[in-house]
Amino acid sequence: MNISGEYAILFYISCYCLFIRYFIAGVIIMRCPFCGHTESKVIDSRPTDEGSRIRRRRECLLCAKRFTTYEIVENLPIVVVKKDKSRESFDRSKLFNGMLRACEKRPVSIQTLEKAVDEIEASLQNSLDREVTSLRVGEYAMEKLKEIDEVAYVRFASVYRQFKDITSFRDEINKLLSK
Ligand SMILES: [Zn+2]
Repeated sequence: MNISGEYAILFYISCYCLFIRYFIAGVIIMRCPFCGHTESKVIDSRPTDEGSRIRRRRECLLCAKRFTTYEIVENLPIVVVKKDKSRESFDRSKLFNGMLRACEKRPVSIQTLEKAVDEIEASLQNSLDREVTSLRVGEYAMEKLKEIDEVAYVRFASVYRQFKDITSFRDEINKLLSK
C-alpha cells in the first residue's frame, strides 16, 4: 500500500470518529475536514457490507474537496392508526403472521414472505408520514399477496376487507379472473 492509500484510510477513520462525535452530541453536522464548511452535496451513496451504515461520498460546497462519511441509519418508529383511532407502533411480526396465515398450505416460501414484509416496511420507512392507517398497511399486504399467490390474496382480502356480503366477495374474485 502506498502512502496516499494509508492516508486515505486514516482520513476515513477520522471522518467516521468525527461523525460519531457529532452523532452522540445529538447534533449531526457534516463538517468538511479541509475547510470546516458545513454544507456539502452527496455524490455517491451506498450501504456498507453489513448494511447498518451508509457510506457517502460528499463534496464540500465551499472548497469542492471530497470526503467520505459513514452514516448510521436511524429507523424512526412508525405509528399505525387503527379503525377506532387508537394508535400502536408498527409491528412487523404481526403483519408477517397475518400474511403467513393467508398462505397456509400454499406454495409460498418464508423467504418470499420475508421479502414482501421487508418491502412493505421499507415503503413505510420511506414515507415522510410517521403515521399510517391500519387500512393502508392491509392494502400494502394485499398488493404483495396479489403478486405472490392469488388464493392467499383472496383469503387475506376476505379477512381484511371483511366483505360485507357475497356480492362484494364475488366482485373481487371477478376482478382477479378478468385480469
Ligand atoms: Zn471544504
